[in-house]
Amino acid sequence: MVLFEPHRPLRLTELPTPGPGTGQVLVRVAACAVCRTDLHVVDGELPNPKLPLVPGHEIVGRIAEAGAGVERFKPGDRVGIPWLGWTCGECNFCRSQRENLCDGARFTGYTLDGGYAEYTLADERFCFSIPDRYSDAETAPLLCAGLIGYRSLVKAGNAQRLGIYGFGAAAHIVAQVARFQGRQVFAFTRPGDTAAQKFALSLGAAWAGDSNAPSPSPLDAAIIFAPAGELVPQALRAVGKGGTVVCGGIHMSDIPSFPYSILWGERTVCSVANLTRRDGEEFLALAPRVPVRTEIQKLPLSAANEALQKLRTGKLQGAAVLMVD
Ligand SMILES: [Zn+2]
Ligand SMILES: [Zn+2]
Repeated sequence: MVLFEPHRPLRLTELPTPGPGTGQVLVRVAACAVCRTDLHVVDGELPNPKLPLVPGHEIVGRIAEAGAGVERFKPGDRVGIPWLGWTCGECNFCRSQRENLCDGARFTGYTLDGGYAEYTLADERFCFSIPDRYSDAETAPLLCAGLIGYRSLVKAGNAQRLGIYGFGAAAHIVAQVARFQGRQVFAFTRPGDTAAQKFALSLGAAWAGDSNAPSPSPLDAAIIFAPAGELVPQALRAVGKGGTVVCGGIHMSDIPSFPYSILWGERTVCSVANLTRRDGEEFLALAPRVPVRTEIQKLPLSAANEALQKLRTGKLQGAAVLMVD
């Protein structure tokens, strides 16, 4: 299923609303990173997308126009627009610092139009200011791979020996933060993907190997970024007693059944859903201190389908970023 035509990017004159509404900003997109979630959306693996839809939720751009009531930003300001595009502010989740679980939440590039475009509209309350040290292209992957990766890392607790399954955009950022925090990183890649293993070692991983290989030592926690359900029992076998397995993706193939013995010993399996604005503020303050460096491959907006195909076939190192001229 192809949901969009990147050859015809959205133009200002074609916007459904001619300008930003109350509390909204019209943003001229400079760069938008390509996330595995875009692939799940475009492939129809996530329910009820807005249709037709402009994908993309790792957006860096500059405010072109501010709607009535906009207070945080002014025209010309550089902002980042993440996956979480709107929450109700009233449900139990919103009122208990868990807006990532809001029942009425709307998501950029899924239930709201996103950043594979020249312009996009956003609610200013969900936009982030961006640290000066990063270029537009370097920043884009921080906005989902970085943010969700960071939330996944927090869920892993204070694990000293951390396994990461699937060494793509999120993993390459999380590995740097984990090393900065003094943790040991064990990188598990697609079997035989020596390029990804070398990449992991270059970012300070203590060990890198095939995802179907046993861990060289018991792990305190593991984060799974690859959308492959069979990795859950593999990761459970790799973590020691009391260990946590965090599933960091929005979609995963079915998890095969597994013996209770690999969950026994107070091991935990959990998922990470979306992000809160607080995750974003924390991570964007932390990233320049590490400092996180993002490995990017720049492509023009017109190559969006090509970028998605590269991601689908595992041919990307780091993150693909669509550049909008
Ligand atoms: Zn809510
Ligand atoms: Zn994403």
